[in-house]
Amino acid sequence: MAGPNMRGQMMEMPLLISSLIEHAGRVHPNREVVTRTVEGPIHRSNWGEVRRRSKSLASKLEDGGIARGDRIATLAWNTHRHLEVYYGVAGLGAVCHTLNPRLHPSELVYIINHAEDRVLFLDLTFVPLAEAIADKLPTIERYVILTDSDHMPETSLRNAVAYEDFIAGGDEDFLWPQLDETTAASLCYTSGTTGNPKGVLYHHRSTVLHAWAICMHDVFDLHAAAVCLPIVPMFHACAWGIPYAAAASGTKLVMPGPRLDPVGVTELLESEAATHSAAVPSVFLGLVEHWRAHGNKPAPLGVVLMGGSAPPRSLIAALEGEFGVDFRHAWGLTETSPLGTVNTLSPEHRRLPVDERTAFQTKQGQPSFGIELRIVGEDGTVLPHDGVAIGELQARGAWVIDGYYRSEERKLTADGWFPTGDVATIDPHFYVQITDRTKDLIKSGGEWISSIDVENAAMGHADIAMAAVIGIPDAKWGERPLLIAVAKPDRTPSRESILEYLAGTLAKWQLPDDVVFVDALPMGGTGKVQKTKLREQHASG
Ligand code: AMP
Repeated sequence: MAGPNMRGQMMEMPLLISSLIEHAGRVHPNREVVTRTVEGPIHRSNWGEVRRRSKSLASKLEDGGIARGDRIATLAWNTHRHLEVYYGVAGLGAVCHTLNPRLHPSELVYIINHAEDRVLFLDLTFVPLAEAIADKLPTIERYVILTDSDHMPETSLRNAVAYEDFIAGGDEDFLWPQLDETTAASLCYTSGTTGNPKGVLYHHRSTVLHAWAICMHDVFDLHAAAVCLPIVPMFHACAWGIPYAAAASGTKLVMPGPRLDPVGVTELLESEAATHSAAVPSVFLGLVEHWRAHGNKPAPLGVVLMGGSAPPRSLIAALEGEFGVDFRHAWGLTETSPLGTVNTLSPEHRRLPVDERTAFQTKQGQPSFGIELRIVGEDGTVLPHDGVAIGELQARGAWVIDGYYRSEERKLTADGWFPTGDVATIDPHFYVQITDRTKDLIKSGGEWISSIDVENAAMGHADIAMAAVIGIPDAKWGERPLLIAVAKPDRTPSRESILEYLAGTLAKWQLPDDVVFVDALPMGGTGKVQKTKLREQHASG
């Protein structure tokens, strides 16, 4: 029946990032925010203080002429000060632009100039990096160094000031502006395999809804009794939304600062009794090795969220089986804020024998409420959810990108879905399994070989620490897989032993043609193996 809409009679409250920090600061003022500082000592703050100090910062930025929509960059570790910048900048209506310090300096120059950042907040660690590129950054008017006057270095950076001096005397009762909820709040650049990095511009509404989803029991289960140590950096898709979700749920936050090595992280997990942590697989590979060598994992650690690339099955088995962790495999992209799917075991899955369970956990999981997914064939037809059909994974939802910052490129399909560039199956229970990136799939004799499958199999070998598989041109088959492996310390596996081992799980045509041993794999700034580099190095034969 058609007819006029009847309007509901509820308040219109915009979903704003300032409402997150208002909530945390008022309702959970004493819940701690603990930081291992760049200067060294452990610093103890809380949500009440983060609220007050982010207001001081916002008032000082406003006094300094920062207006709505201005881009304010950060080059910083996970610390309480970086958290204050997140809230102070976005709360004011400006845009918090997190820069990834692991990028090549020329890439940082491109990104900062593309975004036209006006202020750069940076850790002491990155002063030399900033000094080296500063003369190529005409839009940056001032540098705020995230430290106090006692630790302020001699620097050539323009209008450099210590953060503590900058916010001193600011208005701790600053009133956050009532913004439209679609106001831009933060900006992250993502590097594709080709072309320049592209900016993903989140808004307040997408950030708040995404934070809500992160807290859900079947996503990351954040709550006021939880203690979360995000190892994933705040410059990698906003630490997967944890800085916002922790405020929404009143969770204690433990910020590891610059010490991301297994010893440093384990110490902090232990001393702060962290219950939750999140990182890419390569970080947990190091932690698991360390825990094995030194007894056990920190006892309270219960929930681990892992994504960014596919974790090997052996790592899942170690975390779940050996260390009793509630392992959550997640998938997403910068363009999806980044939460796309999470694999949380249902009661039925928990009852599966360990082997079947860990095999199941290599799947990337189900979409949470707020995001929809589908797989699409090469001809554009939407494919069935039978766990067999393989197609490109496409997404739409409340925190999925609409278009890139200052870019004409339209990425969405005609019917409004974002093509992720990942290839996947979806099973009848809507569990997604990523089989590859479109660009990494290997086509051999007309059949597709999933590089992820072969890598996963290889990492089950007792002597292999890391593995990557690329397609190399082949006159007969089109492409054939090449396995590039890093052996565990003090192990010297032979090519034959690895191929023999793989023959136990892979079909003959899926077996790599050769194995190359290297000391290390080239890793990108967000913990992913750089396959383009590997192709350059190895594909020519
Ligand atoms: P980024 O935007 O840099 O976070 O990269 C997103 C890409 O990382 C995705 O498109 C996937 O190719 C890959 N990725 C993220 N999580 C996973 C996962 N759990 N398994 C496999 N690939 C993943």
